[in-house]
Amino acid sequence: MTPAPPTPGQPTKTYWLEHAWLDTRVEPGVVLQTRDGRITAVRTDTPAPPPGAEVLRGLTLPGLANAHSHAFHRALRGTVQVGSGTFWTWREVMYTVADRLTPETYHRLARAVYAEMALAGITAVGEFHYVHHAPGGTPYADPNAMGEALVEAAADAGIRITLLDTVYLSSGFGQPPNAHQLRFSDGSADAWAERCSLLKERDHARIGAAVHSVRAVPADQLATVARWAEERGAPLHVHLSEQTAENDACREAHGCTPTRLLAEHGVLGPRTTGVHNTHLTDEDIALLGRSGTGTCMCPTTERDLADGIGPAAALQKAGSPLSLGSDSHAVIDLLEEARAMELNERLRTRTRGHWTAAALLRAASADGHAALGRDDAGTLEAGAAADFTTIALDSVRTAGPLPRLGAETAVFAASAADVTHTVVAGRHIVRDGVHRLVPDVPRALADAVAALRG
Ligand SMILES: [Zn+2]
Repeated sequence: MTPAPPTPGQPTKTYWLEHAWLDTRVEPGVVLQTRDGRITAVRTDTPAPPPGAEVLRGLTLPGLANAHSHAFHRALRGTVQVGSGTFWTWREVMYTVADRLTPETYHRLARAVYAEMALAGITAVGEFHYVHHAPGGTPYADPNAMGEALVEAAADAGIRITLLDTVYLSSGFGQPPNAHQLRFSDGSADAWAERCSLLKERDHARIGAAVHSVRAVPADQLATVARWAEERGAPLHVHLSEQTAENDACREAHGCTPTRLLAEHGVLGPRTTGVHNTHLTDEDIALLGRSGTGTCMCPTTERDLADGIGPAAALQKAGSPLSLGSDSHAVIDLLEEARAMELNERLRTRTRGHWTAAALLRAASADGHAALGRDDAGTLEAGAAADFTTIALDSVRTAGPLPRLGAETAVFAASAADVTHTVVAGRHIVRDGVHRLVPDVPRALADAVAALRG
């Protein structure tokens, strides 16, 4: 994978980290230098800050990767918690917001949502983007106006984005898109590829592909999407077996599971990530693991939507790298996603310790960045992207444990509210808990959500 280009013109900057997460351990007193958007040196055994260094108190981690996001779902927070129902009734409410989005309102909302992410220590987001056209399906004058709004929103909020431009062609197996879904559809995978190919990568933005799901992309269109991603070495994501109803319909239409269908059409592989991977057979798990296909778990959304608990431990054991996403943004907190993956497994198995804090942090950082096509982020080492975040170890949630247990404290007790600093490509985006590009993030969120209220 080609590393992101350096950000030229930045002078050398020196940080002193009170504690730093270096690969698998907490080190006290670490000097970290950055230049042109990259880490240039990491020095341990430095008990006091050198002159001129910026001091970051607490535990500094590699920047967190939010590998699965639908930014507009943030507008549903609270409202979808009223009443009962299933994933499918939730989806109807979600479509009423999707119907109202314009490039302007979506930019405004996404800028605020990505700012919330920066405040939560997230330095890169994978935006699974499918609201492409105007309501009814008419393309905008710029056919990528919506995708561009998201790319620009990430730049405005100071984080990196992998725009996973999504193919969405049908409402079910052999069914045309419904009225809500017309604006998601390009008509064919070829037309999607033509539009998507017009999107340009930028310093902060990678372009990837996504298959919405096997119910939304007919089987004979899948290979076109896989080929597009392969030709570009781009990440390819797909919602996979989140619901048993999708599995049943796939078996009826094709006589196999969604995973088997994707395998037969060349969709699986090390650049591919299955999102959710909840209701799988043993053969599905083996297919995903053997092909090196990743798994993005979104535990706070999966529990919010009553989806079920995916077999994350078995998938990883089979060879599927794990990443994490906040998906519907019921909450935006990668630390919560990380601990929820472990705690779900504890509830299911009634045993503890399926992942160490180190393994959970890896899913929330290095493996998440890799799933977004960034192999050069997610570690604090020379040559890596200068993307990192600091968690307070003296808050009401985190005070008490020995600092050497900082990773366990961060993963099992801290929350997004404990993030004090976020640095992206060597730029200090969040300092002392304050976003430096979006001055009042709560107000920006409230205004953007109000603008979408019917
Ligand atoms: Zn999703």
